[in-house]
Amino acid sequence: MKYPKVFITGVTGQDGAYLAKSLVDKNYEVFGSMRRGASIKTYRLEELKIIDKIKLIPMELTELSNVMYELGNIRPDYIYNLASQSFVKDSFTHPHYTTSINYLGVLNILETVRLLKLDVKYFQASTCDMYGNCISTEQNEETPFNPISPYAISKLAAHYLVKNYRIAYNIHATTGILFNHESEFRGKEFVTRKISSWLSEIKKGKKDAIPLGSLNSSRDWGYAPEYVNAMQLIINEDNPDDYVVSTNTNYTVKQFLEWCCNELNYDVEFVGSGVNEECYDKKTGLKIAYVDKKYFRPSDVKNMLGSFKKINKNLNWAPKIFAKDIAKIMINYDYKK
Ligand code: NAP
Repeated sequence: MKYPKVFITGVTGQDGAYLAKSLVDKNYEVFGSMRRGASIKTYRLEELKIIDKIKLIPMELTELSNVMYELGNIRPDYIYNLASQSFVKDSFTHPHYTTSINYLGVLNILETVRLLKLDVKYFQASTCDMYGNCISTEQNEETPFNPISPYAISKLAAHYLVKNYRIAYNIHATTGILFNHESEFRGKEFVTRKISSWLSEIKKGKKDAIPLGSLNSSRDWGYAPEYVNAMQLIINEDNPDDYVVSTNTNYTVKQFLEWCCNELNYDVEFVGSGVNEECYDKKTGLKIAYVDKKYFRPSDVKNMLGSFKKINKNLNWAPKIFAKDIAKIMINYDYKK
């Protein structure tokens, strides 16, 4: 039996690795592009024991000829575009680079699909950051976008490009407007994983208190393995469309920190406010975290809350794992490691 060919950009990232695992388990033939570089990060694929089951293709997304050559050779049935400069704070220091990967990379793939007439279904990882400074308390597919970072702007441009190729060229191009999703495989530069990995080291006496940005920003946090399932439902829909993927719950960074602390038997209190806020263990007086202005973004999204009504109604997807469970999963994973 011939199984579908799937091409995943960003296969070495959090979502790429989980998605590849899910597709390998379904016997799909999985190709994954990775960027050339001094250190190729295959540790997630190794930990999931799929490194030998996928075909890794070095590819530079910003080179049209390179993208055309590889995709033309493979002629996949599905393309999941997950590669991205995905760290919002870095996008302020590398706006040009961020735009190249996040927008021109998408343009190159879509142009390849169009010019080579690939018969393919395409999924684009869009982001809730596109809503930015949003006036509505809850965001859905109809909510106007108002991005406030180079990352979000590049992703929004790509989002509109995908919609345009769907309409103009009849390409089966879909998007998931993904709200934050975390896991044991989240990069350590992101706040949830920074907390879980750093706190584990504090508990073992190896590190001092965690410097953090705004403790009061709130996010709609879901669990990454559930989000890659949503991606598969979205790409397989008969009518290509855009879907919010979220949990419709939101919590602050402070709450996430507190859950992780409780799991390691710290009983925490917060003293001070704003840039002077600090977190201590009540029993021992140990300083656990503090606000450091260095981690503030020039402009930051304060509150995110996504409505998953549409994907629930049309594709029967709903989250089962929420922020508190995720904090427990992540801190236990990091502490054991
Ligand atoms: P991630 O862990 O940061 O993975 C990003 C992937 O992109 C990695 O494989 C990375 O390669 C690759 N990449 C980075 N720069 C690249 C470049 N210059 N050329 C080619 N590849 C490059 O992100 P993720 O959490 O899996 O997210 C997957 C997608 O969903 C991204 O597009 C992200 O923007 C989007 N998204 C994520 C979230 C979230 O909360 N996780 C929310 C909304 C949208 P290396 O492994 O070599 O670094």
